[in-house]
Amino acid sequence: MGAGFSGLAAAVDLVDAGYDVIVFEARSRVGGRVWSEPIDGPNGTGPIIERGAEFVLDGYDHMRGWLDRFGLELANTGMSYYERDAYGVDNVSRADMRDAAAVLAAAPRSVSDAVGDVLARIDVRPDVAAAVGARIQVSSAFGIDQLNVSVIDHAGSFTALPSFRVATGNQSLAKAMAAFLGERVRLETAVSSIEWHDHGATMTTDSAHDDVDAVIVTIPLPHLREFPFAPQLPDERHEALDRMTMGNAAKAHMLLKASAPTSAVLSVKDLFWCWTCTGIDGSVVPVLNTFAGSPDSVSRLDTENGPRSWANRLAEIRSDLDLDLDSTVITTWHDDPWARGAYTADTVRQLPGDASIFSAPLGCLYFAGEHTAGEWSGLMEGALRTGSRAAAELMSQKPLA
Ligand SMILES: Cc1cc2nc3c(=O)[nH]c(=O)nc-3n(C[C@H](O)[C@H](O)[C@H](O)COP(=O)(O)OP(=O)(O)OC[C@H]3O[C@@H](n4cnc5c(N)ncnc54)[C@H](O)[C@@H]3O)c2cc1C
Repeated sequence: MGAGFSGLAAAVDLVDAGYDVIVFEARSRVGGRVWSEPIDGPNGTGPIIERGAEFVLDGYDHMRGWLDRFGLELANTGMSYYERDAYGVDNVSRADMRDAAAVLAAAPRSVSDAVGDVLARIDVRPDVAAAVGARIQVSSAFGIDQLNVSVIDHAGSFTALPSFRVATGNQSLAKAMAAFLGERVRLETAVSSIEWHDHGATMTTDSAHDDVDAVIVTIPLPHLREFPFAPQLPDERHEALDRMTMGNAAKAHMLLKASAPTSAVLSVKDLFWCWTCTGIDGSVVPVLNTFAGSPDSVSRLDTENGPRSWANRLAEIRSDLDLDLDSTVITTWHDDPWARGAYTADTVRQLPGDASIFSAPLGCLYFAGEHTAGEWSGLMEGALRTGSRAAAELMSQKPLA
């Protein structure tokens, strides 16, 4: 259920092993929160932008394996996702941010501490603390007053490691997986309910009831919480799911009228960052990419009234670039009906062990998706890993005769 990275990875692994698979996908495309398109629309000829997931980061071994399998190449972005110049604060260098992040990571903490609590206790200049807090808030798509301080351990590297994108767009991987699966993928086929028991389930869609032996459920967290399973998921699972939090994010892209170097700038007050980066041929792609992370940041951008307010703010912050403001494309995720948010955030509401409670198989149901990925949650790599994990669980419990 779901043709995002997790559902597709699960389906390909099962087909490889000889299982008979159907992939139910509500949208008219595969990829879910991975969505690559030319900046001038689906049939355009402009540079490809990532309207959802962008960066292939350090440790993405599974994703690299999948890309190799389907003959897809990575392009080095020529900048680092991990390091950004702070805008709107006085004299805060990349090194200041890196040092403060190291102090934050080493500071004494309790399991219920939020990033904001620990940041307020450590001895760093207020401007540097604000820049580090903004960086963590933006990347985690949620406010630092609620984010668990442990996010610094896996999302918080401030070291200039290389970062990549799939050369032909990240969604190319989803498309390649779907091409391999062929007619097994049913687009525009939302599952509206599942009746399940230990040995099988009935999947109901607008047009049919399909009887299946097992289901891998990969729908995003807000959907999973409300999905009409019959019987319902046990209370303990619902309680663990309710303690999980979906973060929010929005993206803006606009064309550059003149060539520019690579860059990465974080607006500390606005809680968004923007960057220019290289493509497969090593030259800088003529696009300014922007990512606003956290509900607070997105609500300030007034995206309901179009791209102008965000574009004008970018023109102010990036006065070094010659921007084509009229080309601005905005993508919001809180109002995407099949995502209802960006990705899960690790907050202080979550209890240790929650993820293993709602990720464990239940009767004929198996659970995958970035929200089940533990330290890889929120990421493409996490989605892919959980798809393969859920497929392996299914295969071990239901071996082929
Ligand atoms: C703006 C943004 C930026 C991001 N940046 C990065 C990044 O730089 N690097 C990174 O690694 N990750 C990033 N991510 C996160 C990454 O996109 C996700 O972690 C990953 O794509 C999630 O995959 P998934 O398979 O778990 O879920 P999804 O991709 O959401 O797939 C679930 C699928 O289920 C379908 N579905 C929902 N309900 C039903 C139903 N009832 N019936 C049938 N189908 C249904 C949905 O349409 C969807 O296709 C970003 C995400 C966003 C939104």
